[in-house]
Amino acid sequence: MADKGIFRMKIFSFLCVLLLPVAAIALPSPNQAPDRTWITDVRIISPEKLDHIEKGSVLIENGRIVRVARKKGVKKPAGATVVSGEGQFLIPGLIDSHVHLASIPGVRPEVNFGPAEAKPTWIKQYFKQLPRSYLYFGYTTLVDLAVVDRRVLEDFRQAPLHPDLYDCGESLPFANGYPMSFAPPEARFQLFPNFIYDSNQASSIPAQYTPQDHTPAAAVAGVKGSGGICVKTYFERGFAGDRNLPVMGLDVLADVRKAATQAGLVLMMHANSFEAQKFAVDGHVDVIAHGMWNWGDLDKQTELPTEIEKVLDRIAEEKIGYQPTLQVMHGLRAYFDPEYLKTKAIPKVLPAEMLEWFESPEGKWFKKEIAEDNAPDAAMREEFDHGPVRRVQKVVAYLAGKDANFLFATDTPSAPTYGNLPGLNGYQEMQQLQRAGLSLEQIFRAATINNAREFKLDSQLGTIEPGKIANLVLLKKSPLESLEAYDTIVTVWVHGRSASRGILAANSSK
Ligand SMILES: [Zn+2]
Repeated sequence: MADKGIFRMKIFSFLCVLLLPVAAIALPSPNQAPDRTWITDVRIISPEKLDHIEKGSVLIENGRIVRVARKKGVKKPAGATVVSGEGQFLIPGLIDSHVHLASIPGVRPEVNFGPAEAKPTWIKQYFKQLPRSYLYFGYTTLVDLAVVDRRVLEDFRQAPLHPDLYDCGESLPFANGYPMSFAPPEARFQLFPNFIYDSNQASSIPAQYTPQDHTPAAAVAGVKGSGGICVKTYFERGFAGDRNLPVMGLDVLADVRKAATQAGLVLMMHANSFEAQKFAVDGHVDVIAHGMWNWGDLDKQTELPTEIEKVLDRIAEEKIGYQPTLQVMHGLRAYFDPEYLKTKAIPKVLPAEMLEWFESPEGKWFKKEIAEDNAPDAAMREEFDHGPVRRVQKVVAYLAGKDANFLFATDTPSAPTYGNLPGLNGYQEMQQLQRAGLSLEQIFRAATINNAREFKLDSQLGTIEPGKIANLVLLKKSPLESLEAYDTIVTVWVHGRSASRGILAANSSK
């Protein structure tokens, strides 16, 4: 019974992918930024120097960090605007390496991707607020994992103040496999034009798509050509009634691996089951894009099975990037939690009318998609907590004990759920990571240096060091002492341009 309800979630996972489209990086805006900013008397918390947290000063010049002085009494550089960080903490801007910007939380996909005239008026406001909602919670860099509507990404980059945005271009599903399988046969190849051909299925692939245009090498070249920094592919046999979706073999993955390496792209695999994560490890992917909440035949085991531990050991030893994405399950569970929409920060990240709609019976349409018939909320919460939530927590706790290469990633939104809201979902993901056993230091590193290194952005991002882009966050509390620190943001800098938290809120009067 439990599983039936949960597995109706196939739709979300589908969306998670559907919702995805591509990008480049924002250049500094020298006209608007003050030439020099001197953030002084502040405790500098940078992940490469966590054993060495001292009070000091940071000089920003033309969008870059040019000087980091870890001592007191350094003279203010000439002409600099001074920002006192007395009693406060300065960290690098946070990086969320798994988002889907074109997907709107809580909105039906046919409305999300449908004609403009059918869209509620608040959708425009939602997209206008979107960059600020991420910044409101300190996220200054995002990676969109699967581009489905490039215009959304382009608009995002046009916003006056926005996080840096990278992407994995159009994703690489295996022909007729997840997630293209959720679209009708006649539409799925158009929706996922960068699919990988499977000659065994030639009769169910429209003739205009030729094998030579859809090799792993051609698909990876498509991503590279569009400016992507990563390649996203899938191993997913499906859910409930769709359990036999075609999946690639290790031979195909080897070709994807080879092409990604040659193109210098990070290879990411959607994999949330024991079988899929083992496959991902065997195929030497760089990043596993989900936690393991599906243990297959071992689902009912109360303790972590030895055979799963063995795969997790390899994930840790080989330093494969691991994105737990715990909020995927909690984002669904939110429909069964009567307190969720009362979360204090929601009005900070959403237009008021959108929240009002979520509170209406119509705004809860997705609940019906995932709830079992007539199941009380408490029973559904139990299903999540004793099923996938329990399993993924055990996996993440084990990996935390091995100090695995965690990458902070939210999968916002992973489904058309209102339980994955931009920016706030990151803060909630952090809370879940802590609950699952990550230390504050592990969370901090996952959201800064680990993501920067994995995505080869560490020459520009991830630490507070001279030469890096001035993406910074000033906090009232230390993120190494409490998780709540991430909700005490005072100021966010993006390429040296500052914004106080208040003006980033959806309900600000700016
Ligand atoms: Zn995703």
